[in-house]
Amino acid sequence: MTQSENGNGLVLAEKYYSQYGSRARELKAAGRKVIGYLTALGPVEIMTAAGVVSLRLKGNVSEAITKGDAYMETIVCPFVRNVFDAAVKGRYDFLDGMVLPHQCDSIDRTDDVWSDTLKLPYWHFLNVPHVTDEPSVEFMKDILRIFIQTLEEFTGEKITDEAIARAVTAHNENRRFMRELYALRITDPPLISGAEMMKVLVAAMSLPVDESSALIKGVTDEIKHREMPPSTEQGRRIMLVGDQVDDVAIIEAIEGAGGRLVMDDLSIGSKMYWNDVDATPDPIQGIAERYLRKLKLPTTFVGTGNNYQETLEARFGHMKQYIEEFKVDGVILFVYKFCDPYGFEVPAIRNFIESAGTPVLYLEDEYSISTLARLKTRIEAFLEMIA
Ligand code: SF4
Repeated sequence: MTQSENGNGLVLAEKYYSQYGSRARELKAAGRKVIGYLTALGPVEIMTAAGVVSLRLKGNVSEAITKGDAYMETIVCPFVRNVFDAAVKGRYDFLDGMVLPHQCDSIDRTDDVWSDTLKLPYWHFLNVPHVTDEPSVEFMKDILRIFIQTLEEFTGEKITDEAIARAVTAHNENRRFMRELYALRITDPPLISGAEMMKVLVAAMSLPVDESSALIKGVTDEIKHREMPPSTEQGRRIMLVGDQVDDVAIIEAIEGAGGRLVMDDLSIGSKMYWNDVDATPDPIQGIAERYLRKLKLPTTFVGTGNNYQETLEARFGHMKQYIEEFKVDGVILFVYKFCDPYGFEVPAIRNFIESAGTPVLYLEDEYSISTLARLKTRIEAFLEMIA
């Protein structure tokens, strides 16, 4: 990152958003090893401690799947298919390896398709448990240790507890910087638009943690001095909920229709940046607890309430806090086709959020801009309804 780029966070975010993965490619050319990962389950702390560059993979919503479907069934979720297609076409030809988590059928059932097709030097399937009781935390610690061991064998370098603790500190700091940037969305109007924020989130997930933190701080310094005019129009404040939304297209549809995207519960967004890893004497304990218990994915979190309402509160209560803190007027729930884990939760989320008095629009679609026009009509109608 150059000095001039340092002073211009949004320009840098735009660069890394539009040339996705370019920094990892540069670091690979400089001799670093690059490991791709696919979801919020990372775990990024371990990869940072191993000294490898972790790159979260994304697809391209503007590009049709032309090669990947020859290998992968079309009932796999469109996000996974699109990213796989990009990988088959060579977009990530600089990767040394990948780690895929036990998250959902679309990932679990395609692990061998990925590994057999890409034939990367390093491959690991992280067998994340799906319940969150004590034995599962112990199991999670064991699978993290196996991940560490395979990375040590691959890199030839020992991963010490001290290195893991330093990585935990760096990623917690990175999360704090991002939360500080999110806080600039609380004002009305927010100091940063939803489209700008999406570019920062995407750019940040493509960089080593120290560069990601510098980028986020640069954007925050730039944004907080913005003089925004007093709000003249009552733009409806929207929270977007879903999994792998990593493109501005849907955000521009919301903001183009007069909405203001002020918060999210997305896999590349708040899910990555809320909830730190606790500093525990054994650093693996804190990492296991964060990824299993604090990260509220539909596949890895089981509510512990005594009744249905308490279980809903345990699973979705954080969304109610977001709605209050970010003064959200309406929630858009955006789920990809064939995404069972998020699809199964739709009635419960709707019920939970609507019964608290916030309207919800549920959209199911492809990971593609080709069907965006019909979504725009529904988004416009929703914004009119809650005006
Ligand atoms: S969008 Fe759904 S099906 Fe696709 S990777 Fe995420 S959880 Fe799995």
